Amino acid sequence: MELRKDPITRSWVIVGDDVERPPQPGHCPFCPGAQNAPQVIATLNGNEIGGGPISAMVHPAPLYRIEGEPHRHAEGIYDAMNTVGAHEVLVQSIRHDIELWQSSDAEISQFLLLTAQRIQDLKGDLRFKYVTMFKNHGPAASQEFDHPVSELTATTFVPRRVLYELRASRDYYLEKERCVFCDTLGQELRNPIRIVEALNHYVSMCPFASRVPYEIWIMPRKHESSFERSITSKSAHLSELAGLIRRTLQRVMSISESFYLVLHTVPNTYQKSNILQYWKTVDEDYHWHIEILPIIGAKAKPYFLKEVYYTHISSESAAEKYRKLSIR
Ligand SMILES: [Zn+2]
Ligand SMILES: [Zn+2]
Ligand SMILES: [Zn+2]
Repeated sequence: MELRKDPITRSWVIVGDDVERPPQPGHCPFCPGAQNAPQVIATLNGNEIGGGPISAMVHPAPLYRIEGEPHRHAEGIYDAMNTVGAHEVLVQSIRHDIELWQSSDAEISQFLLLTAQRIQDLKGDLRFKYVTMFKNHGPAASQEFDHPVSELTATTFVPRRVLYELRASRDYYLEKERCVFCDTLGQELRNPIRIVEALNHYVSMCPFASRVPYEIWIMPRKHESSFERSITSKSAHLSELAGLIRRTLQRVMSISESFYLVLHTVPNTYQKSNILQYWKTVDEDYHWHIEILPIIGAKAKPYFLKEVYYTHISSESAAEKYRKLSIR
């Protein structure tokens, strides 16, 4: 596998001939005491906030490997580099049958803390420009493992969608000296037709231009660029965020059995390179958030193949339906 850069859109793509992996017989590798358990990278004991012990492990079939250098090189006009990076599995619970939305707020807080700590740790590695957490749940999202897990990747490049957001937020800031996310949230809260829940510190809402039906975002009300800094700070409102994530996922699960969840946070600003100059206003202009994209039935695939997103349920109707669901 190698990373190749599209010379026109400047997006990096993983290209290579995949080796077919035989199904792993036997027990779940992520259940306690598994013989075939992957290497554990970090464990968080839940003593302080009451969740169980949870761990980050090396992905059994990683897309990126931690060893070596990216060796970015030219092939004529093209750019390519090795798939250096990190690919971890965040085991959300020691229990095989408890998903995030069935967990207690303490357990979800625990998971958020582990995620934040892993991101901070990987950002200490100056080869990595971006670290993110994501979760692919359900058959239509190509869920990989039965055990309730999320994944984390550290990459030597900023992934395409985040790069678009970062560039756009920077441009907006250069023009207005304001954060585009704060401005959006301000307007949405004044006329809350697309707001699903507005709490003291966090909000869930269906974005104005949803890419798929029932797309929903979670973000802090106060301006915060970095998820990991915010979550590990003393002033974090972890249990409020945990409760919002739990209820939001319950809402999503009552609409669809599959979804993609992704965390968008600031790139690695420890990088002492042109990147740092380029992102010098990022703490003012970017605002972390979690995006959840449900996958609705047979219409799922074309969303991502089409050139223009077409959402057949408006954000306002989606938010209204979400609000009306009876959620604990
Ligand atoms: Zn398991
Ligand atoms: Zn903001
Ligand atoms: Zn985003």
